[in-house]
Amino acid sequence: MSATGGTGVMTQQDTVTEVGLPAGPDDSEALAALHRVFGYEAFRGEQGAVIEHVVAGGDAVVLMPTGGGKSLCYQIPSLVRAGTGVVVSPLIALMQDQVNALRALGVRAGFMNSTQDFDERRVVEAEFLAGELDLLYLAPERLRLDTTLDLLSRGKIAVFAIDEAHCVSQWGHDFRPDYLALSLLGERWPDVPRIALTATATRATHREITERLNMPQARHFVASFDRPNIQYRIVPKSDPKKQLLSFLREEHADDAGIVYCLSRNSVEKTAEFLSRNGIEAVPYHAGLDAGTRAAHQSRFLREDGLVVVATIAFGMGIDKPDVRFVAHLDLPKSVEGYYQETGRAGRDGLPSTAWMAYGLNDVIQQRKLIQSGEGDEAFRRRAAQHLDAMLGLCETAQCRRGQLLAYFGQEPDPAGCGNCDSCLTPPETWDGTVAAQKVLSTVVRLQRERGQKFGAGQIIEILLGKRTGKVIQFDHDQLSVFGIGDELTEGEWRGVVRQLLAQGLIAVEGEYGTLVLTEASGAVLRREREVPLRKEPKKPAASRQASASGRGERKAKTAAAELPEELLPAFEALRAWRADQAREQGVPAYVIFHDATLREIVTVWPTSVAQLGGVSGVGEKKLVTYGEGVLEVLASVGEPGADEPTVTSTSSPSGV
Ligand code: ADP
Ligand code: ZN
Repeated sequence: MSATGGTGVMTQQDTVTEVGLPAGPDDSEALAALHRVFGYEAFRGEQGAVIEHVVAGGDAVVLMPTGGGKSLCYQIPSLVRAGTGVVVSPLIALMQDQVNALRALGVRAGFMNSTQDFDERRVVEAEFLAGELDLLYLAPERLRLDTTLDLLSRGKIAVFAIDEAHCVSQWGHDFRPDYLALSLLGERWPDVPRIALTATATRATHREITERLNMPQARHFVASFDRPNIQYRIVPKSDPKKQLLSFLREEHADDAGIVYCLSRNSVEKTAEFLSRNGIEAVPYHAGLDAGTRAAHQSRFLREDGLVVVATIAFGMGIDKPDVRFVAHLDLPKSVEGYYQETGRAGRDGLPSTAWMAYGLNDVIQQRKLIQSGEGDEAFRRRAAQHLDAMLGLCETAQCRRGQLLAYFGQEPDPAGCGNCDSCLTPPETWDGTVAAQKVLSTVVRLQRERGQKFGAGQIIEILLGKRTGKVIQFDHDQLSVFGIGDELTEGEWRGVVRQLLAQGLIAVEGEYGTLVLTEASGAVLRREREVPLRKEPKKPAASRQASASGRGERKAKTAAAELPEELLPAFEALRAWRADQAREQGVPAYVIFHDATLREIVTVWPTSVAQLGGVSGVGEKKLVTYGEGVLEVLASVGEPGADEPTVTSTSSPSGV
């Protein structure tokens, strides 16, 4: 129905006034839980408004980017309202970790899924019935079972949270049929508020969630989709594995990150290549058995600087906060996919990089895939539109972030973001009209004079005047266009063809990806239309962090990068202590404390447990469990400059 027409974007006045105020007696219960349990100062963006609405019993549909802070939107209502918050999530492999992380915060959490045995499940059921659970995580298929529904009817439910709600959408690649059954929750429990959350932001998905989950009364909250700490960069692809290696060596040595490839084969090869070159990397794709996949995922979550090379099968729901980079070696199929994948970087708000290598073959391959793929005409048209939007992002000479935000219907900063390759090293454009005409006339001549069609490779050899075997075999050196393009290099010609494809001025056809004219080609050939092209950068844009601080090997961890040199020993000591704790307890290090929290600890240098409690990310339970331990580590390192000025060998310790 028309209920989805208006997306009620909330004002932030309430939360703004709360920023920076310590917990006081007249704080709301929700804010008190934020301080006490999570140790955070204030709600972020829409969180405050969402939580207030749900705590009061309202339904909500929440769109927030990955890393935006969706979990608190249902966790806090579950803590504040009477009863248990029931969280529906498709991510069975992550439930144990999620529950462990909550327990470390002192939250009474449990889960029920197929990985448990009978006894384990009985314990959770009993806890739920006794009202001893704040949160209960469930797989959607479990919720369909009568036994589960009966169980839930016998306990008290505070709120239903439907996480990854876009799984209800039949158009998306994450579709789960079991999600369709979730519409019955509202009928069966009309008095329990429901909150559906997703990071997928298109209007169509939004509408489908509201309709299929049967939530016409829900209030809609749309957060800003900007992720300012992520630096977006797209470089022309030449030798992708080598390019990746130098990107990692120069900017992300020892950092955790994800590398996405399209095929299982290239996943395997890339992981091997990185390992051979001294970067610890493991593969992840649907062709590996479940045990190997689980082991690799678990290592990624638990170890500090592991790289996972994966197909898109990896990553949904991975809430590791310190993923420092996401790299794409192949072109994603849509901007939505790209944004979800890159959004997995930098959930902790620290500087992170979204890096992609992209080239002519990506365009040809994707176009071919769409043409030869399954699905009806409408499906293909939709896929082509998605690809065009993605290509537009790759080829733009404007701010990348601006394009991304505009794509999601949000207002970008007209002055640019200052943290993407276009803003950092503005690309030059050049008048490519003549070059475009040369490519198009070659295609025309081959077809008219010879009745032949060829792919980009042969067209470029003809333009360059190369007498290769294939050129001689077909007498292509006799064409009048042979050798008319020696003003550009082969790489530059590939760039020209790629951009023509992206602009729809030329198209690929058939299983060999031969080049053919489009309706728009005529205007270029007749000189009725100019073709501005983006110049291929000679040197890839360097990251701001890397270029600003010419520190060579010292730089390693971005997490530490912006700390003053004299605080690094304490930061590293805390990390080592954290690693010990994590190993003892068998949990990922970030479950103990996030990097961002460790950074704040060394910056504040608390000397008492009470002072430590004021650090963001240190809640009540963590303070009790780890407070003394942290203070001991700090004392053993000794505060820099506390007794005598430390003389370091480096100059200007305060930096620039
Ligand atoms: P999402 O599920 O939307 O991807 P998360 O819920 O995992 O995001 O939150 C992302 C990160 O931000 C987490 O590390 C979380 O602890 C942190 N975070 C969320 N809300 C706040 C807040 N109000 N203050 C500080 N940190 C927050
Ligand atoms: Zn920008």
